[in-house]
Amino acid sequence: MTVTVATLGFPRIGPRRELKFALEKFWSGKTDEAALATAAAGLRTAAWARQNALGADWLPAGDFSLYDHMLDMSMMLGAVPARYGAAPGAADLVTYFAMARGTTGGEDGCGHGHASLTACEMTKWFDTNYHYIVPELAAGQKLALGRLSVLDAWREAKAQGFATRPVIVGPVTWLSLAKGQGADPFDFLDEVLGLYAAILGHLGEAGVDWVQIDEPILVTDLDDRQRRALTRAYAKLARSGPKLMLTTYFGALDDNLSLAASLPVAGLHVDLVRAPEQLEAVLRAVPDAMLLSLGVIDGRNVWRSDLEALLDRIEPIATRRDLVLAPSCSLLHVPVDLALETKLDGEVTQWLAFAVQKIEELALLKRALNEGRASVADDLAAAARAVAARKTSPRIHDPAVAARIAAVTPAMRERGSRAARDRAQAAALGLPAFPTTTIGSFPQTSEVRKARAAFNRGELEGAAYDAFLREETERAIRWQERVGLDMLVHGEFERNDMVQYFGEQLAGFVFTVNGWVQSYGSRCVRPPILYGDVSRPAPMTVDWWRYAQSLTDKPVKGMLTGPVTILNWSFVRDDQPRAASCRQIALAIRDEVIDLEAAGAKAIQIDEAALREGLPLRQRDWQQYLDWAVDCFRLTAAGVGDATQIHTHMCYSEFNHILPSIGAMDADVISIETARSQMELLEGFARYRYPAAIGPGVYDIHAPRVPDEAEMVTLMRLAQQHLRPDQLWVNPDCGLKTRRWEEVRPSIEAMVSAARTLRAVV
Ligand code: GLN
Ligand code: ZN
Repeated sequence: MTVTVATLGFPRIGPRRELKFALEKFWSGKTDEAALATAAAGLRTAAWARQNALGADWLPAGDFSLYDHMLDMSMMLGAVPARYGAAPGAADLVTYFAMARGTTGGEDGCGHGHASLTACEMTKWFDTNYHYIVPELAAGQKLALGRLSVLDAWREAKAQGFATRPVIVGPVTWLSLAKGQGADPFDFLDEVLGLYAAILGHLGEAGVDWVQIDEPILVTDLDDRQRRALTRAYAKLARSGPKLMLTTYFGALDDNLSLAASLPVAGLHVDLVRAPEQLEAVLRAVPDAMLLSLGVIDGRNVWRSDLEALLDRIEPIATRRDLVLAPSCSLLHVPVDLALETKLDGEVTQWLAFAVQKIEELALLKRALNEGRASVADDLAAAARAVAARKTSPRIHDPAVAARIAAVTPAMRERGSRAARDRAQAAALGLPAFPTTTIGSFPQTSEVRKARAAFNRGELEGAAYDAFLREETERAIRWQERVGLDMLVHGEFERNDMVQYFGEQLAGFVFTVNGWVQSYGSRCVRPPILYGDVSRPAPMTVDWWRYAQSLTDKPVKGMLTGPVTILNWSFVRDDQPRAASCRQIALAIRDEVIDLEAAGAKAIQIDEAALREGLPLRQRDWQQYLDWAVDCFRLTAAGVGDATQIHTHMCYSEFNHILPSIGAMDADVISIETARSQMELLEGFARYRYPAAIGPGVYDIHAPRVPDEAEMVTLMRLAQQHLRPDQLWVNPDCGLKTRRWEEVRPSIEAMVSAARTLRAVV
């Protein structure tokens, strides 16, 4: 029996973010479409050559995208909303980027304004930090085959001597993630299936023998309609041309396993990293004739694998049937190449594997299975040593952290009664009705970013950089006093990023120099790597807070990132449960909370921007996650006295499923994103009798627009239909770091006068 290796998808941004720079040059008009096409083709060729050289047998084509693979699929189906004005199936690159990013209105030669087009909605791809463009399907919309970019990619590879397996998003995943307008996306099922059949037909005619068709929706809770759609879809598509490798990832098939195994497809890929326990059931369910692809290397994390343990599991299967070995999912979600890390120390480096190293691991497994373990004995031994070292390294296991965790008591999560806290805080803070505040950050201007870059390069001395930051902070405090905000912030000028800033000061984290992962379009993030037990060697924010507070009599909020958000935006340990890592971070941030209080802070904000996005894909797993997430937040916050006001901030507006847990966090004030939803979501807070105070964002900070006082007054009046006036704060939707001072100043001035107007009628 033979074992082969597939990659399912390779990072498309390039080892040094070449795609990002090519896109941004093109968007700013510095280069033309031909230059962008050349850069993109270069990246594709390099990716194929690399994967091929590393020993992959099944190379993907069509995994590359100029922006997003869901958008690519929408283009192939001609699903272009009418407002972009493209004839069905005839959309070009201009339309493509208009859907992805919107267009900024401009003026033509005779002074007529062009209506600016809003972009399509963007949201997170399953439980990853990758964002896709949400397909839109409006009642009566006509779909039509667009340019088959996946076929172009396959041909391009073929011309260069690479045999590839085209990748497309499957129809049921595509429809499930689409948003209907006056229509249900599934009304389009037959039309969409017709187009998919045509796409597969064209691929088959061109000579494609296998297609990877991604249906990650199969690891989620499906309703009957989705199940029927899957049956219907694959009955049709299996007859349309190439053999299909039905690809599932991000979790277990579980109750959808028998359905998946019964579909008339030629192959099935399963995720054995997120769901190793499904292997036996999969083996029982999948017919012999179906080619099995096992996702055994983690496509979502950066750790080197225990290859010996994997071989022990796979060997008995490989003697009975042909196997494909693959990462659990596309390698899109991990950085490209560990070899580009020049600053990581040797010990941590040997524990890691990025996309390139993961393909090497797969190739090694393949040889061990096809030619015997002895053929790769040295490499296997090296891998085993790395795994063993990680298990025992004192860099990872800190007995002091273990002892603290063991000593956590329930009382450490409890604060005083709501009534006692309300009284104590009112006395300590003396705030007016409808108190005004901001979420934390002020504009990260190019001067701020330049100064930080110069400091990081060693061109600006520590003392000079510090002096610069102090000046920025002082200016921000003076300005906040002048406009009359009630609770001030220091402005976060010293922070590069709300997670990285803390990770850099905590024990247990390392940072890469090139470990970029695509977040959306040209945007990439470099997640911290949480490798060991977490502790806080020294206070992280107290000096900045103390300096800011020394400048004013108004209360300045201490500003921290919460444990769940730090966890969810990092690559985390796979040698202990996420909850255990989160609890360690919670204790470290708790130390900071206590130190801020001791320094005199009367209010401390603990941001949990990423709490909701950590929700598991399966509903039955939600409560368990929410329970430990809430527990960690409480552990972080509850070390302070009644008079200290704990704020939290969450920048999203989908609270439906998590409202009881939000209440259980037991914060004193929560600020949330509401400006774009007309305060409707406060209804839920009212229904659950949310006991504490809420700052519903009164203006959308994501747009450069300056709101006027009247509209913010209107929004706050709407808020009062749901909540008591004494529960309400007045603040923007989120931090202001991406805005310019020219927008922030008038917006906040108007917000403060809106609050004064509200007070006048109370
Ligand atoms: N305090 C952070 C800021 O104001 C919060 C940002 C966020 O929640 N995304 O930037
Ligand atoms: Zn926010």
